[in-house]
Amino acid sequence: SEEREIMTWDMFGQATRDLSQMVADDGYEPDMILSIARGGLLPGGAMGYALSIKNVYTMNVEFYTGIDERLDVPRILPPAPDFVDLSDGKILIVDDVADTGNTLKSVEEFCDGKVGEVRTAVLYEKSHSIVKCDYIWKRTDQWINFPWSDKPPVAAPHGFVPEA
Ligand code: 5GP
Repeated sequence: SEEREIMTWDMFGQATRDLSQMVADDGYEPDMILSIARGGLLPGGAMGYALSIKNVYTMNVEFYTGIDERLDVPRILPPAPDFVDLSDGKILIVDDVADTGNTLKSVEEFCDGKVGEVRTAVLYEKSHSIVKCDYIWKRTDQWINFPWSDKPPVAAPHGFVPEA
């Protein structure tokens, strides 16, 4: 539908506090936060502060090219994190939204066998997601406007060549 789920910066601040509280109340103590770039960067950073976790890493996975425009499979862009010493460790994967869930699934698969325990936290989860996240702030089936990407960029992408 045309309806949008709008997240403001104020809501983002509250949502990351709430999500962090859920993780803490659950007694989960991650050794590392893995933010999926770019959508998970701000949530993961905010949760790193709320949960007193300095070990915040990122992994760049590309799946969407626009509203409802998807690649066939998520692409993990190098460099991928290496999880030395985390075979008995716990990580918390953080992303903005589990939509199809394909992105989170590919990251979970990447972590398989390298990390002791993997849990996932998202601001939003859609009902058709193939991954059921452990910590979810809100469920929706609408397209979400996030505060970091609801305005046009101030610059064109690097290397952009306008059509003649
Ligand atoms: P996936 O379908 O793999 O779960 O979603 C991959 C990524 O697409 C998300 O992390 C997010 O960056 C982007 N995405 C999916 N659904 C939405 C949405 O409703 N709004 C926005 N702004 N991005 C979305």
